[in-house]
Amino acid sequence: MLTRTKRALLAVALGACAALVASIPATATATPAAAALQDQNNQTEDRAVYQVRGTATVEQRTAVANTGIDVLGFDGAAMTVIGTPAEIAALRAKGFQVDLHSQLPKLDEGPGVRDFPSGYAGYHNLAELNAELNKTVANFPALAKLSSIGKSHEGRDLNVIKISDNVGTDENEPEVLFTCGQHAREHLTIEMCLRIAQRLTSTYASDPAVKRYVDSREIWLVPNVNPDGSEYDIASGQFRSWRKNRQGAGTDLNRNWDFKWGCCGGSSGSTGSETYRGPSPFSAPETQRVRDFVNSRVVGGKQQITAHIDWHTYSELVLWPFGYTTADTAPGLDADQARTFSTLGRQMAQTNGYTPQQSSDLYITDGGINDWMWGVHKIWSYTFEMYPKDFWGGGFYPRDSVIQRETTRNDKAVDLLLEYADCVPRVIGKTC
Ligand SMILES: [Zn+2]
Repeated sequence: MLTRTKRALLAVALGACAALVASIPATATATPAAAALQDQNNQTEDRAVYQVRGTATVEQRTAVANTGIDVLGFDGAAMTVIGTPAEIAALRAKGFQVDLHSQLPKLDEGPGVRDFPSGYAGYHNLAELNAELNKTVANFPALAKLSSIGKSHEGRDLNVIKISDNVGTDENEPEVLFTCGQHAREHLTIEMCLRIAQRLTSTYASDPAVKRYVDSREIWLVPNVNPDGSEYDIASGQFRSWRKNRQGAGTDLNRNWDFKWGCCGGSSGSTGSETYRGPSPFSAPETQRVRDFVNSRVVGGKQQITAHIDWHTYSELVLWPFGYTTADTAPGLDADQARTFSTLGRQMAQTNGYTPQQSSDLYITDGGINDWMWGVHKIWSYTFEMYPKDFWGGGFYPRDSVIQRETTRNDKAVDLLLEYADCVPRVIGKTC
């Protein structure tokens, strides 16, 4: 007979099933000790993986997401969700056909190991990530500089690494921002930011294109926007499928940005929901810190950052604003701008095989980072949803053996963004 621990580990070992090891929204905890107690309580709730049919239209998918349930993806035929019996009953009451796919193994916490489980050791936990960033800066002091943009809710540094020639000087060059890890369980995105930082420094001397980008742009990366969440996700030695930050019951950072915040049924007002938008815009320290950093890049009345990618998993998509409306254009986003977004989005998607679309083609989201970056700062801001394509391909927890392949896959898309950063509308033949 398998013990609960063995069953949970087995689930992790089975690759795709690892995504099934999920957590439960916790009630307010601020201290690690209280969090440990909460972890034990988390085992009692009954969550499972379901498929929701009758979701062919954006309106139907938005209605599902709008219940606040944990949406994992949409494969063209059905949405995959993780839900409690109450959440599933609510969906069925709205008329959706919901089929049980599989039960989630119960987590058996045991003594915390605070690291990735076997088969995932190639992923970097926070200490390992910071060690790698420090190594990059030590190896390439003229090209890379590490600093903190402030603290997370639990007091961890939100590090930013700048990559440019004359890195210590604020030169008059277009700036590009990459952010990773807003959602805690999307660990592959941390590896993506790390690869960008390492590639742009280690190949500077050998790759003329990289040298040109690094010499002519100032590149910023925040490799982990949600360190409290990502550490919590692995703290037991098994994955919790934790998405939000660790402030109270957790806020979905990517619903907490102050542009059309909570406007349009694309986030939840319930604290227990996976898409809880927070009590007010920028209520999360993590979104505040990134906001303040981006605001600080307004120099002489001009925002220096021109282009941005926020990395997520999964679904293999390239997404652009707006997320709050299904309309292609809206106040602040005219037809030429929409065409610029879609043209560069499609070009980037051609390099990595992802599907390009406006964010709201999937379902409505509000308070997301792309809408704020564009709506407030006119930054050409994209979301990449990385590997795998669907839940059945490993969900949030693909094995570490795919890291190299799936991060390298985005090199050309990153280069395209850097290429056009001086004037993104150039991509449709416009001047700036
Ligand atoms: Zn995400």
